[in-house]
Amino acid sequence: MKSVPALIERKRDGLRLEDEEIEWLINGFTAGDVPDYQMAAMAMAICIRGMDTKETEALTAAMLASGAVLSHSQRDQFRFVDKHSTGGIGDKTSLILAPLLASAGLRVPMISGRGLGITGGTLDKLESIPGFRTDLTLIQIKDKLRSVGCVITGQTPEICPADRKLYALRDVTGTVPSRALIVSSIMGKKLAESLDALVLDVKYGSGAFMKTMPEAKLLADEMAAVGRQMGVEVSTLLTPMDEPLGFAVGNALEVSESISLLLGNAATDLRELVVDLAQCVCELERGDLEDLLLNGAAYSKWKEMVAAQGGDPDIDPAKAFPARVQRDLISPADGVLTKMDAGEIGRIALNLGAGRKIAGEQIDLSVGISSLAKVGSSINKGQPLLRIHAADESGATEAEHELLTKAVGIQTAEGGCR
Ligand code: URA
Repeated sequence: MKSVPALIERKRDGLRLEDEEIEWLINGFTAGDVPDYQMAAMAMAICIRGMDTKETEALTAAMLASGAVLSHSQRDQFRFVDKHSTGGIGDKTSLILAPLLASAGLRVPMISGRGLGITGGTLDKLESIPGFRTDLTLIQIKDKLRSVGCVITGQTPEICPADRKLYALRDVTGTVPSRALIVSSIMGKKLAESLDALVLDVKYGSGAFMKTMPEAKLLADEMAAVGRQMGVEVSTLLTPMDEPLGFAVGNALEVSESISLLLGNAATDLRELVVDLAQCVCELERGDLEDLLLNGAAYSKWKEMVAAQGGDPDIDPAKAFPARVQRDLISPADGVLTKMDAGEIGRIALNLGAGRKIAGEQIDLSVGISSLAKVGSSINKGQPLLRIHAADESGATEAEHELLTKAVGIQTAEGGCR
């Protein structure tokens, strides 16, 4: 006779779980028979004790089997591709990549997530566009793939329901940085998409769940092995996350930056990464992909996707719904910017209200940080290093203090550091 407390105790004590026990637990959790508090305790036990390869495969299979798997009627005409990131700060690549790949003639059935820990979530970002639906049904996904070529949608009671519930719990219980939980969460979603090819952007650094490159490599290899076993071509990129990607962190602000890039502007680090990722699943040359970003083709696809998912394609949410308080952070010295710490900036954005501290909490889509100076740039005393977007003056003041004391580093001409 199986019992949830007994399984939690076994994992707590470092013992392994059998395949059928994992399947039983996930089925019970999905059905609502295993309460959140028991699943949160299990997630913490897994986080601390880990899972071996066989347990991780069983967990991934159970997450996948909790919901429907997409079937593509146009399989013989199109390649179905996607990318997933393990989570970073200012990482808005999905918003740009899905329409870019669709404009290159590929089909992109992207199932994404909300914010997780200090990292931002694609679904939260997209919901800063009024009306944008991230809870598409299987039929709606198929319909929009046929008419537009790409969708970005979330886990629902029909699609990846186990991940939908466990993801929301992990977000607020300190149980994100576990290889087994990340592999099963990401690969459960990606395998449900029935892909031909997948690229995984595995982040390492202060703003990532894996702090070092060797840890990220282990995670990448484990995810790739699970995907290849299921017949998907998987490529992996290991990318640094010590400073935020691009110029903005925060939901509406990141949509705004994505629109700017789709209009041919924006940070080179962001554009470089988008094109690097696209090249992993697309046969077009780099120059051709860059052309699709510069000639408006990817932007037209963005607008089609936003309209098809119920949003207003002409809205820039950061301009339409700005945060109440905006304040520049002024450099206290001349010098060179040596640090813009992604982890600290993620925590500060979360405290401003961009992420959740309890499950299901309403977040403030307008807050965050924009106009980030990039590491390595020369800075003059009195020059803005970034702009804080806050709900009120006290939030802005707290963020200003935290940024200056923890996130920003400047090497001054005299050789000192601030
Ligand atoms: N992205 C996911 O979908 N799940 C994780 O666990 C981490 C990043």
